[in-house]
Amino acid sequence: MSPFRTILHIDMNAFFAAVEQQSRPALRGRPVAVIGGGSRTVITTCSYEARAFGVRTGMRVGEGRQLCSDLELVVADPRKYADTSSRIMALFAEYTPLVEVFSIDEAFLDVTGSLRLFGDARRIAHLIKARIYHQFGLTCSVGIASNKLLAKLASDMQKPDGLTELADADIPRLFTTLPVGDLCGVGPRLQRQLHQLGIRTCRDLATYPLPLLKRRFGVIGARLQRMGRGEDDAPVRPEVAAEPVRSVGHSLTLDRDLDDREAIAIELLQLSERVGRRARRYGLQGRTIHLTLRYADFTTFGRQKSYIEATNSSREIHRRALGILDTLVLEQPVRLLGVRLDNLETETTQGLLFEVDQRPREVNAAVDALNDRFGSFSVTYASLLDALPRQPLVIAPSWRPQGIRYTGESEEG
Ligand SMILES: [Mg+2]
Repeated sequence: MSPFRTILHIDMNAFFAAVEQQSRPALRGRPVAVIGGGSRTVITTCSYEARAFGVRTGMRVGEGRQLCSDLELVVADPRKYADTSSRIMALFAEYTPLVEVFSIDEAFLDVTGSLRLFGDARRIAHLIKARIYHQFGLTCSVGIASNKLLAKLASDMQKPDGLTELADADIPRLFTTLPVGDLCGVGPRLQRQLHQLGIRTCRDLATYPLPLLKRRFGVIGARLQRMGRGEDDAPVRPEVAAEPVRSVGHSLTLDRDLDDREAIAIELLQLSERVGRRARRYGLQGRTIHLTLRYADFTTFGRQKSYIEATNSSREIHRRALGILDTLVLEQPVRLLGVRLDNLETETTQGLLFEVDQRPREVNAAVDALNDRFGSFSVTYASLLDALPRQPLVIAPSWRPQGIRYTGESEEG
């Protein structure tokens, strides 16, 4: 890795609320609060117009209404946000292959190798900002710095629609007064622990005796001290870096719990289509179909069946998934469904013994390009399906696709 890096951190502004304002023009310029979750009583995100009244993420709807009687409430639509997010992430990938999706509305881009092609980092940032605005009507804040820690700090400095560059030379002065809690990775609990040691600013952290930090925090003590100096050598980690695909799957939390087999079959068709499409895109076919169900009480289980003939036909995947469903007695309404193709092998012409997918590949190519380029929102997800305790109905702002790590250590170490 080159010792001198140029990293962008791009943070969408009031993402969920802004997406809603774009899809519903009557909401533009209005104080909007996106609400979600089971009880729909907590504000997930709010527009800048609402923030002007003091409305904040995490507030109860009643509190928000007290501050702003005109507050427009919109129930969150996670699929819409995930879709917009993956299209934005795909756009980033046009500027560098090194894109790390940090959450649904944030990403790190290592543009070190792209500077010669596109000019300097500011120019790349301006290009990206302009494209996001023109294509999606959305604004973002961009931070430019030599590492992820500082880039994230920089993007936070100007919101909305910001562009902030932090040079390494600026850091010592800035860090003299910067509260440690402003560093990404220093959460409230870690901040409290640091405060107990008398460490309040980044400079306090940078100059604290290292042996004492190590005694208190163990292995992360040294890392914390480097953070206090603005140092961070963590690479930008792109998705599924050349890892072989072991299985292809998709899962879906249903809009409402289903106990009707017909309705479940329709949802399975949609999932099978996505699995088949992705398998074809990878040039893979599989002999094992795995069906996952999660009941309303979050009990999760799976059944699988292997066949002699491998397939990547959506129809055939659906047929096999239904075959498994038929063997199950449903004890409760179903809240989540997953379909996975396992036992993968490279596609051969024999795989076409089954009907070839009806639509020609090129018709789907544009859509596939968008969905698959940054398809981590679903593809890596399914392989971890069994391990996931639950998938929230609403994607929290902290949501990230699987395989993505934090810039800093979590406060649990
Ligand atoms: Mg954001």
